[in-house]
Amino acid sequence: MGKLRMTLTNRTLKCTLATAALVGFGLTGCTHTDDIGAVHAASNTVIEAEASSQVAAIAADPKIRAAMKTIEGMNQLNVDRLITLTEIPAPPFHEEKRAAEFAKRLKSAGLTDVSVDEVGNVIGRRPGQKGDRTIAVVAHLDTVFPAGTDVTVRREGNVYRAPGIGDNTRGLVILLSLVDALEAHNIETAADILFIGSVGEEGLGDLRGVRHLFREGGPKIDSFMAIDGGADDRVVIDAVGSSRYRVTFSGPGGHSYGAFGRAHPHQALSETITGFTQYARRITQGEPKATFSVGRIGGGTSINSIPFTSWMEVDMRSTDPAKLARLDAAFQKAVHEALEKENKSRLAGEALTVEVKSVGQRPPGRADLEASLIHNVGVAMQSLGIEPQFVASSTDSNIPISLGIPAVTLSRGGISKNAHAPNESWENVDSHLAIQSALLAILAEAEMM
Ligand SMILES: [Zn+2]
Repeated sequence: MGKLRMTLTNRTLKCTLATAALVGFGLTGCTHTDDIGAVHAASNTVIEAEASSQVAAIAADPKIRAAMKTIEGMNQLNVDRLITLTEIPAPPFHEEKRAAEFAKRLKSAGLTDVSVDEVGNVIGRRPGQKGDRTIAVVAHLDTVFPAGTDVTVRREGNVYRAPGIGDNTRGLVILLSLVDALEAHNIETAADILFIGSVGEEGLGDLRGVRHLFREGGPKIDSFMAIDGGADDRVVIDAVGSSRYRVTFSGPGGHSYGAFGRAHPHQALSETITGFTQYARRITQGEPKATFSVGRIGGGTSINSIPFTSWMEVDMRSTDPAKLARLDAAFQKAVHEALEKENKSRLAGEALTVEVKSVGQRPPGRADLEASLIHNVGVAMQSLGIEPQFVASSTDSNIPISLGIPAVTLSRGGISKNAHAPNESWENVDSHLAIQSALLAILAEAEMM
């Protein structure tokens, strides 16, 4: 291989391998900050070399070559599965119907140990020969669409349209295909593999399924792979965390003329936004990336009234726990300063009160670039001609990444468009590649016997 380069999106780094004696995708010499350490670089090279010889051996195994053909032959079966599962609604907080069908299908694919846990996650265990380690392969069951949404799949050539078809019904199909391929060829691994349909990945679900999985006393998971990405070459390794609030200022309200001088909720709200913006602009300067946005505001009765309430929803994000914590603190400070200011300047009536309600806390985290998982995934993709792009995003992997457990989020294959929109579509193009590269990566990580 010649000179290879990869870009870590959302990091300032661009790494170039000067010498490429080893198969490389550029993690060598890269660190999260610019303090490139020789020790780090050297150990990365060793890990990458190990990963590449392991994946090469797996790919050359006759069983695996047959399994790769089996996967290519699953194209029509997978389309049928995709249509059936997509047409079972899985609105936020109501994944049970789709979960039941997914559990049934994991069983008929050959897993004997399939259960649904307390929060609704479907967990199918494929025991390993040693069973001393456990690899989780996860796709989320839920969609963003409310109950009552028409989820009928419409086909136009190779393009299939329906809400949730790509994100993430196709991820569930990949899990079923992987189990099929492993079972059809009696492929054994040292580690246990858990195939999991998770609940509550989207929006206000706030990752509740995977959060539950990693609860104290939950199943031991050493390595985690989510299937939930749109583009074949994207590998999520860093977790964009978020902190979300709904803030409501409430007061007595009244006539705009007759009650003038009473504390004014909208004034407190706008003061909060102004104050927070000033603080947050400083915090979000430079790397690592951190962002803030007041996404929605509302309240008020009529043009000639002092409102009773004024509310807003705010979203803050970063891969850096310290920056996210600073943004959060600045936000709380701005709310309380604005409340105090508005109450102090009122001429009459009761004081305003404020409610700050957390509506989402996704923990951030950054990858350990020496984790074998990242290298196994990168090498597996390269062996199929896909050059990995390592990026940061917000997915089920946030939870394990924030806990220091190696985790990645991989592509669901094909071409996904308009995720989270009613005209969502999934195009069946080269869709076997994502399944094949996931299989190779899983077998490297779970140690094929
Ligand atoms: Zn998703």
